Order: sequence, then C-alpha cells, then structure tokens
Amino acid sequence: MDKYQNEIKYLKALSHPARLAILEALRQGEACVCHMETLFGWRQAYISQQLMVLREAGLVTDRRDGWNVFYRVVKPEIYAVIDAVYQVSGRGMQIELPMASLDSCTCPHCNIDLEPPIK
Ligand SMILES: [Zn+2]
Repeated sequence: MDKYQNEIKYLKALSHPARLAILEALRQGEACVCHMETLFGWRQAYISQQLMVLREAGLVTDRRDGWNVFYRVVKPEIYAVIDAVYQVSGRGMQIELPMASLDSCTCPHCNIDLEPPIK
C-alpha cells in the first residue's frame, strides 16, 4: 500500500481537532502563534507542536519577522479537502472558530492601524 503514503501524510496531518482549528484560523491568511494563543486559549507549546506536524506534512510554512513567527498555508488546495469532509460529515459549512475576543491580542496583525482604545 506504499503508493498511498504521500496522500496519507496529508490525511494524518488533518486528523486532529486542533490542527483543523489551526487550519481554519489560517484560512484568512497568516497568523503568529501569539494570535492563535489568544484565539484558542491554548498554550503556546501546544500550538507550536501542532504547527510542527502541519509543517512537516508540507501544509504550512513560517516566516520570521522580528520577534514574531508567522505561519501560513502553502497548499491552499487543502481547504477543498477540508470542505469536502465538512460536506460528508453533514456540517455543510466551515467550522466556527472558538472565537475568543481578539481585543486583547497583541500580535502585529491585530494591532495594525490600531487607534488608541476608546474606553
Ligand atoms: Zn492577533
């Protein structure tokens, strides 16, 4: 069954709820670990560990910018696979992220053009 090894690599990378959630977070574009920490409320080490699996499968890559490391999906075709699984499972739509408030996110993307908070 070796001829399926390359495909299995991607399916294995997808077969974890945290990694599906991370891929959903990256659907909108690149994000740093600190952004995902805020979004999911998970420990940084845990997120990094899951990102490592996605990176080793060749689905994501990272880019260092100063203190931050940004992750992005390099095979956006994977979303066609994920969306197909949603259809098969009857979800019919993309996963709703556990949208924690991003107001407190300190990542550079959340702070672009940020006006001083009005409180
Ligand atoms: Zn952020």
